[in-house]
Amino acid sequence: MPVQESVIIDGSFGEGGGQIVRSSLALSLVTRRPVVINNIRAGRPKPGLRHQHLAAIKAAAEVCGGVVQGAAVGSRSICFDPGTTIGRHYDFDVGTAGSTTLVLQSVLPALVLAEDPSTLVLRGGTHNPWAPPFDFLAKTYLPLLNRMGPDVSATLEEYGFYPAGGGRFRVSVRPAAKLSGFDLLERGRPRFEQVRAIVSRLPRQIAEREIRTVRAELAWPQSAGVVEEVAGHGPGNVVMIEYATQASSEIFAGFGRLRVRAEDVAREAVRQLREYMAADVPVGPFLADQLLLLLGISAWQKGNRERQCGGSFRTLPLTRHATTHVEILRQFLNIDVEVTESAATGTCTVQVRPGVQL
Ligand code: ATP
Repeated sequence: MPVQESVIIDGSFGEGGGQIVRSSLALSLVTRRPVVINNIRAGRPKPGLRHQHLAAIKAAAEVCGGVVQGAAVGSRSICFDPGTTIGRHYDFDVGTAGSTTLVLQSVLPALVLAEDPSTLVLRGGTHNPWAPPFDFLAKTYLPLLNRMGPDVSATLEEYGFYPAGGGRFRVSVRPAAKLSGFDLLERGRPRFEQVRAIVSRLPRQIAEREIRTVRAELAWPQSAGVVEEVAGHGPGNVVMIEYATQASSEIFAGFGRLRVRAEDVAREAVRQLREYMAADVPVGPFLADQLLLLLGISAWQKGNRERQCGGSFRTLPLTRHATTHVEILRQFLNIDVEVTESAATGTCTVQVRPGVQL
């Protein structure tokens, strides 16, 4: 094999956060190109790697037998030299309440393209603020990933809330040789709407107040609200609004925390849903971020008569996370990403296509 030149990523670029590390790892695994990431999380108050980023690096190295330098808490620079990703059983313990879904993000794109199937157990936080809740993974992200060819399912076994953690879920992956792209431009008719409020080791009335608030704000019937009491390792609360249309299923979450009223937590989720509904787009801001990576890989793999490569989607104006993501994709993959904003509708269309052959 010829020695591949490393991709050099500036971790201070754009959003300057942990997403740059995770997406760079995911793309390094998929392309098998080594990566050097400098200035890691320079945009954050405590720069450098935290435990949860280390967990992603460790997981990425484990799935491919890769070699890492600089993987320590506080480190601002790493070199990651990937091997071939192997499908088998993995057990990743993120420790404490670190987000398990974020660790999965780094390794799943490579595992769905591996030769053999995988099963994974992920332990840690399953419903963390500032990370995709498990339900977003299972209901929003995986159905779209499965539309691209692989067959991935996830089962929650235990809830893990910040700060106690201790959650667990299982993933089973039947890979596909290539990812087929798709276009997601229209939302279509609504299919399903529901709000679930979950409390772990906290009074049930917190969840009831959240459900009442969401139902009153959205004029939803009683049947659309579900209260769940679960016994996690520690206290926790999340309210999740699911809004499914013919195109996709979106989850908008509010996370309970000390000194924030249940009504206000519920309104955080309602605000996100309202923005999404008003824009009349099929793809919400968090999903946009994730789809960029999947469509980018699909476009990079090139197509044939049976398989669309890359694709397009309509979403709200791109977040800084998403625009940072676009730049990382461009550095790893020979693809063309075009973002067209419509001032009239306050929406944007993203097209991801194979790049011009070099
Ligand atoms: P840092 O401390 O550097 O910010 P981080 O790794 O915890 O690091 P981000 O870089 O902000 O975090 O990345 C968080 C990721 O979680 C992003 O991909 C974002 O799209 C996703 N995310 C955050 N909240 C949600 C949510 N409610 N639903 C779905 N995805 C979410």
